[in-house]
Amino acid sequence: MGSRRRSSASLERVVILKNHARRAFEWPGVLLFRRTLSIPMNIDALIATRASTINGSGIRRVFEIGASIPPEKKIDLSIGQPDFPVPQPLRDAACRAIQEGKNGYPLTRGIQELRDSIAARLRDDVGWTVGPSRLSSSASDPGVVVTAGTSGALVLACLALLNDGDEVIIPDPYFVLYPYLAHFANAKAVKCSTYPDFRMTAARVEPLITPRTKLVILNSPSNPAGVCNSEQECRELLELCRRRNIVLLSDEIYDEFAYSESRTQPFVGKGERKACASPARLAGSEDCVLLVRGYGKTYGVTGWRLGYAAGPRRLIEEMTKLQQYLYVSSPHPLQWGVVGALELDMSREVSEYEARRDLVVSTLSKVTDVPLPGGAFYAFVKVPERFGGEHERGERFFQEAVKRNVLVVPGRTFSQRDTHFRLSFATPLEKLRAGLEVLADMMR
Ligand code: PMP
Repeated sequence: MGSRRRSSASLERVVILKNHARRAFEWPGVLLFRRTLSIPMNIDALIATRASTINGSGIRRVFEIGASIPPEKKIDLSIGQPDFPVPQPLRDAACRAIQEGKNGYPLTRGIQELRDSIAARLRDDVGWTVGPSRLSSSASDPGVVVTAGTSGALVLACLALLNDGDEVIIPDPYFVLYPYLAHFANAKAVKCSTYPDFRMTAARVEPLITPRTKLVILNSPSNPAGVCNSEQECRELLELCRRRNIVLLSDEIYDEFAYSESRTQPFVGKGERKACASPARLAGSEDCVLLVRGYGKTYGVTGWRLGYAAGPRRLIEEMTKLQQYLYVSSPHPLQWGVVGALELDMSREVSEYEARRDLVVSTLSKVTDVPLPGGAFYAFVKVPERFGGEHERGERFFQEAVKRNVLVVPGRTFSQRDTHFRLSFATPLEKLRAGLEVLADMMR
């Protein structure tokens, strides 16, 4: 009764205020009236520490600084996205889907046609039998979920696995999202230094494992170094994780960008095709490895926000449940756009990138250390010590390079140290050549 009285009183107040407001608009003195109504808000005091304690991406900062360089002079080696056109069949399929009205909500786990194409790829590539749908497959078969970009899969995996205070081991240097994955889940990212060769090995990971460790993230080919793990390194990591009951998340967003010498491991069901080593191809990986892959980099559609995760069914079901509430799904018509993507031959584009990789390594290895990028489209290059101490060298080099109109990303963006810079060779050859000359000159 009391609450009903209160609510009718507050209703009355609203009506009075509305009438006042109407009057304020009809008569002079509007400003005076408005001032009395607008008690200043302090949004700052309301922001959660989850948001206020993190910095915007360092790559974004590079982008903003780069905006001050005239476009005709700028040599941008900072961008982590392919520079080739999106394959026509993908564009056609996405447009067709929009025209045909495939614009409503899809299934949270992804449209069946796309899941079938992913299942076919997983069977040929890593030898996993992914059931076509939850009902028709056995409980021990791995599951698959289409996600909002590869980032979507990473976020879902961490939210599904990590409780407050749990730990995830990530490589250092790392992809910029990794430390924040733990932060979002009130968990802890334990950084595994992989300097100077950037290899995430069991020997480096094992001493960091504690009773709170639930997840190890392997990224091969890696961002920012382009380094590919060997089959032996994958095997040792898999055995370690299984022994300690830890999920091994293999972020393989750059799987297609693997260069000749890194294509060492045959597809399990199509032996004539070889790829960069993956722990998922090793026998019995299904219940330990969470395989995360994406479409954005491989087909130049980073803005389509499409990726997928496959692995232990129980985990995939929890991730799918979380996706229902977080992102609902990835974009429906764009899922149709990539249904046929995994059958496309991208070898021409990959060969072009391999030639650029060779140019990067041959130019810069004359003046500094560049661990060979066996994949992806980045090199993580050591800055000569004369540029400063271990926590400032990358930034200083970056600032000097900006003065010469070249954009790279300082190592501190990806690491606790700042001894390197990342360059992306997803840049047309002529620009890349010009940029490399400037960078080599700075290091001579
Ligand atoms: N993992 C790695 C290693 C990456 O480099 C990136 C993007 N740069 C992602 C995941 C996220 O990719 P997406 O755009 O598909 O979310």
